[in-house]
Amino acid sequence: MKAVRMHESGGVEKFVYEDAPDPLIAANEVLVRVKGCALNHLEVWATVLPPGITFPRPRILGSDVAGVVEAVGDAISGIQVGAKVMLQPGVSCGVCAACLAGVDNQCSSYSLLGQGPWDGGFAELIKVPPANIIPVPDNLSFEEAASIPLVFVTAWHMLVTRARLQRNEVVLVNAAGSGVGIAATQIAKLLGARVIASAGSDAKLEKAKTLGADEGINYNTADLGQEALRLTDSRGVDVVFEHIGGEILEKSAQALARNGRLVTCGATAGRTASFSVWSFFMRQQTFLGSFMGTKSELLGMMPYFRSGQLRPVVDRVYPLSEVQAAVRQLASRDHFGKIVVVP
Ligand SMILES: [Zn+2]
Repeated sequence: MKAVRMHESGGVEKFVYEDAPDPLIAANEVLVRVKGCALNHLEVWATVLPPGITFPRPRILGSDVAGVVEAVGDAISGIQVGAKVMLQPGVSCGVCAACLAGVDNQCSSYSLLGQGPWDGGFAELIKVPPANIIPVPDNLSFEEAASIPLVFVTAWHMLVTRARLQRNEVVLVNAAGSGVGIAATQIAKLLGARVIASAGSDAKLEKAKTLGADEGINYNTADLGQEALRLTDSRGVDVVFEHIGGEILEKSAQALARNGRLVTCGATAGRTASFSVWSFFMRQQTFLGSFMGTKSELLGMMPYFRSGQLRPVVDRVYPLSEVQAAVRQLASRDHFGKIVVVP
């Protein structure tokens, strides 16, 4: 098969489009022909791994996959060859206390396709455990289906499970034009919340409003914290949906209401931040860390995609052979929605 592999860490030029062996499936594995693989910041980070960090070589990246079942191991029933599917991006052991409790994203052996022992979807074929197979509704294209798993399960876990966003609460969604931001805006509206979107350009804010955002703040031209307070009559926002880190997190924390919850899943622009401990305890606020989501949450979301209440947004599709250009576009932040590569 053709695949994009990394033989050594370094810049995006280390992604090599080349021939690779077809994956061989065991009795309890499923082979999927990839029809689309969406990019995430994981791929950008993988290009800048510092010296000394090791990963299995050669490595096939890509965690968000949609395709068609090509072959099914002998020990598996209930999955048909030819079925249109997308893949749960997280692989877990399935037998530990966390997995059996349904919180597989807390499994000690949890890994993402393309980031741990399992190869990812920058290839014509990929193998996965059967628990990672999800049927795709007919109304979604492969490119759209590939744009769902990682960002939607992450945003759902943050807003519903961690921050417990309620109807009529106000949520500040940072970087609303990013993959998780687009998912969070739609999920928050589904829950009946008021959404204040933030982004680095007015064009992205206008697009966020077409997805349901009620107001927008351009954090390059306005003070994010002050503007969020002004829009809430100085009360502040009930929930901050955060994944940027650094100064954006600091400004957002300044706009957190009494009993407010700040939930974060990333630090793309700064791994450290400072905040007021005084305000934190006096105003009884909560800071929540969040990582991915559970297989159950992603399966439970599928009816909303079937009904059109949630919809993936695809910015651009590249051939797999042009994955370097795709990753460069992602790193530039010049996109609204997911960037997908197709073998
Ligand atoms: Zn486990």
